[in-house]
Amino acid sequence: MSETATTNKETRGFQSEVKQLLHLMIHSLYSNKEIFLRELISNASDAADKLRFQALSDPELYQGDADLGVKLSFDAEANTITVSDNGVGMTRDDVIENLGTIAKSGTAEFFSKLSEQQTKDSQLIGQFGVGFYSAFIVADAVTVRTRAAGVATEEAVQWYSKGEGEYTIETVDKESRGTDIILHLREEGKEFLSEWRLRDVISKYSDHISIPVYLQVAEKDEEGKETGKTNWEQVNKAQALWTRNKSDVTDDEYKEFYKHVTHDFAEPLVWAHNRVEGKNDYTSLLYIPSKAPWDMFNRDHKHGLKLYVQRVFIMDDAAQFMPSYLRFVRGLIDSNDLPLNVSREILQDNKVTHSLRSALTKRVLKMLESLAKNDAEKYQSFWKEFGLVLKEGPAEDMSNKEKVAGLLRFSSTNEDSSEQNVSLADYVSRMKEGQDKIYYLTADSYSAAKNSPHLEQFKSKGLEVVLMYDRIDEWLMNYLTEFDGKQFQSITKAGLDLSQFEDEQEKEKHKETEEEFKSVVERVKSYLGERVKDVRTTFKLASTPAVVVTDDFEMGTQMAKLLEAAGQAAPDVKYILEINPEHTMVTRMADEPDEEAFGRWVEVLLGQAMLAERGSMEDPSQFLTAVNQLLIK
Ligand code: ADP
Repeated sequence: MSETATTNKETRGFQSEVKQLLHLMIHSLYSNKEIFLRELISNASDAADKLRFQALSDPELYQGDADLGVKLSFDAEANTITVSDNGVGMTRDDVIENLGTIAKSGTAEFFSKLSEQQTKDSQLIGQFGVGFYSAFIVADAVTVRTRAAGVATEEAVQWYSKGEGEYTIETVDKESRGTDIILHLREEGKEFLSEWRLRDVISKYSDHISIPVYLQVAEKDEEGKETGKTNWEQVNKAQALWTRNKSDVTDDEYKEFYKHVTHDFAEPLVWAHNRVEGKNDYTSLLYIPSKAPWDMFNRDHKHGLKLYVQRVFIMDDAAQFMPSYLRFVRGLIDSNDLPLNVSREILQDNKVTHSLRSALTKRVLKMLESLAKNDAEKYQSFWKEFGLVLKEGPAEDMSNKEKVAGLLRFSSTNEDSSEQNVSLADYVSRMKEGQDKIYYLTADSYSAAKNSPHLEQFKSKGLEVVLMYDRIDEWLMNYLTEFDGKQFQSITKAGLDLSQFEDEQEKEKHKETEEEFKSVVERVKSYLGERVKDVRTTFKLASTPAVVVTDDFEMGTQMAKLLEAAGQAAPDVKYILEINPEHTMVTRMADEPDEEAFGRWVEVLLGQAMLAERGSMEDPSQFLTAVNQLLIK
């Protein structure tokens, strides 16, 4: 450390989340040490972007006086690596905020939930984004010297920490604007004290970075002997990746760029890079990650694209360019139509934004469509990670409803598995002759759906039913009314009519039985009174004596549960009791002359049906008394 005059020196403790992060990181990333360079170069490049952006409104800060870039050097005797940039720098407050805390809310909770095994999983810690703190993978102490743009030489800041519980911060002199990060290497980090090793790693991680990255190299004479002098050698192309021609960019470069943009450690699943001219003039580079971020369902989850205007970085997380149901999409948009002084407020209701948003939405849906078509396995892994989010689509985006519907995957009675891999197109292609509806069932869980008594006649008629058991499904089905011109039909609704699949003889027989049972139905009705909306016979059951259904336009069970779970008062669901006249329990009931005993049978039928439908019943003791009395008899 340099011995410049110091003032205002203080020692501060890290926020407890930072301590946890540091601890986890050193334990999970030791086999992936070199990524500290990616993270630090990435931060330096961001700092250059931010400086250019700030200079748009305050030209004093940067007038193109020096080329913005990153310089890397090492000192084998002192055991240090230094990463320097001349970007935006940080003030004392910035340093305390950025290098002492983790701003993301929910972090503490996230850490507290990690299991022993998970803490060793580098993917997990990786998706969290370790950023600057990754320096401690190779360093047992780190010094940061930084001077913010527009701040006086003697007002620079030095931060120092051993990465344990605390750090010191003091005011120092620093000649130039920007940030120097000095890593005091631990034993395991010493492999990086080598020119070729550093060059290798830097070129891997910085080729796509738009500012030049220089490495300090020893000068050699004609015979290859070191002269004792050093030179700065530019290691990367320093051309923003998205401005290059698609055909010139390798897959590896796209992947590395993704990691730079997102701080994700895992590789992206797919990406689409497009240059568009015409009504709108822009370039977009959109990625679908392979893993969902841990906070995707947090209310304040940050998402959106990096926004550039004419190649100048403007902001991170510009959420306006993607609908919320595609919030997992990462990447950037570089527009030539938006003004350089664009703010989040302006973006809100801006014509260009709207038309870009709609174009980018289509682009993503197309990318997913082709993934589904060309690589079913990858699509399945996408679905597992993001299917729940995509299911928000039909409600949010009327104009692309059919497209989104085509991307949805469900499980169905066609296969004996909870795996959601049936598309609606698959279903339609297997529809039976004369079938004009898509039959579906919503339930709390796959096993509840699969074993639902409502399925009995579908099984016997060989009709496929879509099984939905995610929380959101009932809500989704409020918006998804048809696909490919076929209406959806819930099989727990009273309007279900399968008579088209019955032959004349069957129909005739059912009619007769219905007549015979009219008086029984009336008896049940008068016993139950207001407790049900209606009672009737059904022929859709086999081994189940009775079920309850709801009217087509009444609220169903799952919807009521959804509202209750959200803390809203749900009106009582009005059930219709359907009894199976071919079931022994029902014929026994019909033969019961004693009204009191008849009532017990009804209690048992209704109680069972409610239990199967809701997983609960209003008055269990009434039900149990009835069961017990019947058993005693
Ligand atoms: P992230 O980059 O994911 O935000 P980091 O831990 O890497 O997280 O960095 C935290 C913050 O510290 C950054 O958002 C940035 O504001 C600041 N920072 C880090 N490195 C630099 C740098 N070289 N120059 C200016 N600011 C930096």
